[in-house]
Amino acid sequence: MTGQQPQNPYGQTGQPSPSHQPNPYPPNQANQSSQPSQYGGSPYQGNPPQQSHPYPQYTNSTNPRQNPYPQQQYPYAQQSNPYAQSGARPNNSPASHVPANPRPAPSQYYYAQPVRKKRGLSGGGIAAIVISVVLIPILLFIAVTAGFAAMANKAFNDAAQQAQSQAEQQQQTEPKVTYITMKDRPSYQETYQYVNGKYEQYSQEALTDLQGFMDKYRIPITDDGGKYVTDFIAVLGKYSNNLKLIGDTIGVDADEMDDIIASYKTDTDTVEAHFKKGEPLEVQITLKGTNGDTYTVDGQNSVELKPLWADLEPKIASAANNMGSNYAESAQKIVELAGLQVNWDFNAGKQYCTKSSSNNPDMQALEDKETFAYYCPVTPNVIYANANASGWDTDYAPAAAIRHELAHHAIHMYCGTIQPPVVVQNGVNRFEGVTSSYAIKYLGADAKWLKQSAQYAAQNHHEQYLMDDFTDKAAEAIHRGECEAIQ
Ligand SMILES: [Zn+2]
Repeated sequence: MTGQQPQNPYGQTGQPSPSHQPNPYPPNQANQSSQPSQYGGSPYQGNPPQQSHPYPQYTNSTNPRQNPYPQQQYPYAQQSNPYAQSGARPNNSPASHVPANPRPAPSQYYYAQPVRKKRGLSGGGIAAIVISVVLIPILLFIAVTAGFAAMANKAFNDAAQQAQSQAEQQQQTEPKVTYITMKDRPSYQETYQYVNGKYEQYSQEALTDLQGFMDKYRIPITDDGGKYVTDFIAVLGKYSNNLKLIGDTIGVDADEMDDIIASYKTDTDTVEAHFKKGEPLEVQITLKGTNGDTYTVDGQNSVELKPLWADLEPKIASAANNMGSNYAESAQKIVELAGLQVNWDFNAGKQYCTKSSSNNPDMQALEDKETFAYYCPVTPNVIYANANASGWDTDYAPAAAIRHELAHHAIHMYCGTIQPPVVVQNGVNRFEGVTSSYAIKYLGADAKWLKQSAQYAAQNHHEQYLMDDFTDKAAEAIHRGECEAIQ
């Protein structure tokens, strides 16, 4: 215990119930002086060697801590589920969901400031609004584009007919000159497929899973971010349509045509390169729909991309365990440093992720009451915390447990799943142990704590948290981006 007022890590909500894959528990459960409890979330700590009462008693009712971040809790709460609109999202799979986006969360920019509890929008509500705001320009764009595409098709057909009759006339009157149609040039089809392919790829990605799209390209979820994405897709659509339209252009100089065709690929690559850096697109276009609606891109907008996970890791590893006024708050600050958020509503993630299970009686999933915190890949920017778990009042929380959860996120970022093939040893899924090894090696987790909690968990039929050479090597492989089986 520290002399300060403990923050309430355990929000008002956290009730134990099914847990997921998070860490095994910290050593002791609240109230008990020595019996740790295990939590799916982070490995529990066994009995802290150095501290006599690692887990003083914090029961919910007497919970001295104030929830540091009440309302920002669920960046991804129910309705705000970023992935809601994508039918493709795995809804319930244990730890192994494979969300596409490897990027940190939008939440860091959005729920940054801890706020005292108050009524009003929940984090979920905020997220829902944010997503809506981003969606509006995109939907508007689609509406405009639909009209634009229809118009483009008509223009295309008109041009085709006109070109044909011109060609016929010209052939009759000027037989000695060879007329060339743009789309007959060898590079035309290939280039069109390339340019249109980019448009299709990005627009489909954004429409299928906007949240995932923003995460993947590290675009902040803000009005500017939404406009930036929309502008980019609009430009690609314009290029694709324009290239289609000029297909029937007739000329006599093949080189000139080839140059024009090539310029579309160059322009596409250029704007894509700007987009990937968040730079101004430097393209001015206006799309006009059949109903007169327009969408204009001035090319001046830019965004500050969110940091790469790999760049964040060293910062997390060196982050102090006393950044807050108590351990729970310190743990939360580390999570926020990583661009994620803590949701103190322990059950909130259950609508998205199913607790990991195992047929091995010695590797049973943690009971909810044993779960300190857990990570759900469907909501990759959130760590769900069990406020009722013991251990929040010791440095097990910031030094070990929360870093174990962040390691789940790291592995997810590198491999697209928290249980890649590389964690399997002779048919045994050792992802929890690999996660702890990763936390120790790359995220500054306290090895003593994690080993202790793993041993404690093992004594309670949760051997999956144990670490050894295999888990260390698997963690190293993952850090190198190697997720395939290593044996
Ligand atoms: Zn875990």
